[in-house]
Amino acid sequence: MTIKFYSGETIPLEMHKVRIVQKLNLPPVEERVKAMKEAGYNTFLLKNEDVYMDMLTDSGVNAMSDRQQAAMLEADDSYAGSATFTKLESKVQEIFGTKYFLPTHQGRACENIISQVYVKPDTTVPMNYHFTTSKVHVTLNGGAVEEVFKDEALNLVSEDPFKGDMDIEKLTTLIEERGADKIAFIRVESGTNLIGGQPHSLENLKQVRAVCNKYNLKLVYDISLLADNLHFIKEREESCKDKSIREITRELADQADILYFSARKLGFARGGGICTNSEEDYLLMREYITLYEGFLTYGGMSVREMEAITVGLEETMDEQYISQGPQFIAYMSEELQKKGVPVVTPAGGLGCHIDASRFLPHVPQTAYPAGALAAAIYIASGARGMERGTMSEQRAENGNETLSHMELVRMAMPRRVFTLSQVKYAVDRIAWLYDNRELIGGMAFVEEPSVLRFFFGKLDAVTDWPEQLAAKFREDFGDSL
Ligand SMILES: *Cc1c(COP(=O)(O)O)cnc(C)c1O
Repeated sequence: MTIKFYSGETIPLEMHKVRIVQKLNLPPVEERVKAMKEAGYNTFLLKNEDVYMDMLTDSGVNAMSDRQQAAMLEADDSYAGSATFTKLESKVQEIFGTKYFLPTHQGRACENIISQVYVKPDTTVPMNYHFTTSKVHVTLNGGAVEEVFKDEALNLVSEDPFKGDMDIEKLTTLIEERGADKIAFIRVESGTNLIGGQPHSLENLKQVRAVCNKYNLKLVYDISLLADNLHFIKEREESCKDKSIREITRELADQADILYFSARKLGFARGGGICTNSEEDYLLMREYITLYEGFLTYGGMSVREMEAITVGLEETMDEQYISQGPQFIAYMSEELQKKGVPVVTPAGGLGCHIDASRFLPHVPQTAYPAGALAAAIYIASGARGMERGTMSEQRAENGNETLSHMELVRMAMPRRVFTLSQVKYAVDRIAWLYDNRELIGGMAFVEEPSVLRFFFGKLDAVTDWPEQLAAKFREDFGDSL
């Protein structure tokens, strides 16, 4: 929740206390330059012991509650018929109103199975926006992804409360042009990851449902980032103001034929699953679970994690719990904006997204401005974010760069993990960096894998800008690390 101070300022207030801690390390700036160089200017390759705030991702790094930890001790460790699975299955049925639940080891495993079953060669999957793994699984099975987002979705500075909505007109035109028999299914993603954790509205999902009914198509709903989306629907959608989180969840789930999620995000633990009310769909997907994931009562998850997810799903129905992430992200985005730093607006879920194109207009896309900014942020603060720009794209077959729609650095906000003073620290160092942005230069690959290069690729700075940046830091901050 947020709370008003006597001074008039409104700040997010943690509605939890910290009872287990992990010691952090903040190496001085000279060591950060060295660590960044050794990691090939790729924040994925930093060692966590050199990182002060790990803001790389929200996946599998959310803080567990005391109740989750307690539940993990009760886990029933049996291969088949585990009571732990029955508990999770019942919780899923209760919250989403779906009869069948197929467990998987994580979100992309659901995408593998759904795509293998429903994507045939020469079919199309319309989406509000793609996610990296969801797209690859569709294309591996011979399908194509078509994004039917509304124009505002790519507008980095916006006041649109639901940038994740599907454009219903574009969707209908696409179906008419391709023919409904060439549409494998329609995929809607909650808390649209790659456009900055932007939500869709309940109303929009209902409209997509109506299109599915009209053309007899399946609606597949990716609810990995549902927690943030629920918070935004409750805050921003007039007709949902008086509904409980549980009611909104049920109404959303009722629109879909198949729901799937990564429990590395939804449920504050690690795992995943597919839910449906259709026996036919359940039977089609079921055999793939035993083939790729494990037996039907664990699907690759440990029983301890399943216990934690059961409690985590229940906690997701608690407004105070799910608002913490988005409110911290809004705070960080607003504080950065006050200091002139260009960020994506309105603030979404998942993390604070910094616009590297406006931060570093002097660095061309072919010199990876978002990658360079992520490296510079680490040097300035010891916080690591993730490049979401041209480095995360793949070269075309002729070797040309695929320039990204956006050059973003995502500073993820793992749920319930950081305190406000840590967020203030990150804001301060990023604001300093913005005032010294002309010192930051570009980068070039020295080792470039052909697939998913952003995970393993190594780069070098094109000049000695990292050293110059560190020298200026020392000048301005004295010995304050
Ligand atoms: C993370 C994510 C996935 C994939 O889940 P994993 O557990 O990482 O495999 C799928 N969809 C969305 C929207 C995600 O954010």
